[in-house]
Amino acid sequence: MEAAEQNKKHFSSVKNVILVLSGKGGVGKSTVAIQLALGLKHAGKRVGLLDVDLCGPSIPRMLNLENQDVHQCPEGWVPVFADTEQRLAVMSIGFLLQNRDEAVVWRGPKKNAMIKQFLEDVMWTERDFLVIDTPPGTSDEHITVVENLRRCDNLRGAILVTTPQAVSVGDVRREITFCKKTGIPVLGLVENMSGFVCPHCSECTNVFSKGGGEGLAEEAKVPFLGCIPLDPNLTQSLEDGQNFSQLFSQSPTATAISSIVQKI
Ligand code: ADP
Repeated sequence: MEAAEQNKKHFSSVKNVILVLSGKGGVGKSTVAIQLALGLKHAGKRVGLLDVDLCGPSIPRMLNLENQDVHQCPEGWVPVFADTEQRLAVMSIGFLLQNRDEAVVWRGPKKNAMIKQFLEDVMWTERDFLVIDTPPGTSDEHITVVENLRRCDNLRGAILVTTPQAVSVGDVRREITFCKKTGIPVLGLVENMSGFVCPHCSECTNVFSKGGGEGLAEEAKVPFLGCIPLDPNLTQSLEDGQNFSQLFSQSPTATAISSIVQKI
């Protein structure tokens, strides 16, 4: 089989491709992308997680996979598997860097070529879902992803992540416009860091204003997929380098994610 055909075959072995977008950094886009991947895995799906945030790849660290290597064989790149059953396959530029603090200082064409390779050369092997974590905003990377995926039958659409504050909501409004202009269906909006659930009494306190995401979804006529609460244990444990997959099932965010997963 020709190499190009072989590569198309890799990508077409994925049934549903989902992009995770946010208007700006720090709203928890990568955290939500990982949680979606884990939530889908918990729902019995075979999942791929692709990190195309080339300048700030955080997924290897968050999944405690930093010391893992991607292997190359004649048919393509073998992703890193986060579990022994190989239900969660992960690919990130973080696996290709010599050291974790190395900065990727590339111009657009080089970044675009890397993303194209990620989309074509990774041997995803029969995935029900591929979750793609993108950089914040609407950059060259987004355009490359969209150009490569727009005509693919398996592209399901984009999930937009916001926090409840109005400024973040304003950024998401621009993401919705981006999706409309580029013809990417919007699967819905997720409001992250939405209230703090007290670990002692389970009372939910809205640290920021609430309802920004739901209001925006209504206004923009896109589905509202749900709210994910703030979980300080999750942040702390990630800082301490603990394994996210194990933490996730004990976090109050897991319940929110499982309800979101049922809607996609
Ligand atoms: P982004 O990808 O949008 O830049 P990250 O996913 O890297 O954001 O998250 C930024 C920080 O916020 C991280 O330290 C992460 O652990 C934390 N975080 C994200 N979502 C939550 C949440 N629901 N509860 C607690 N901490 C969160």
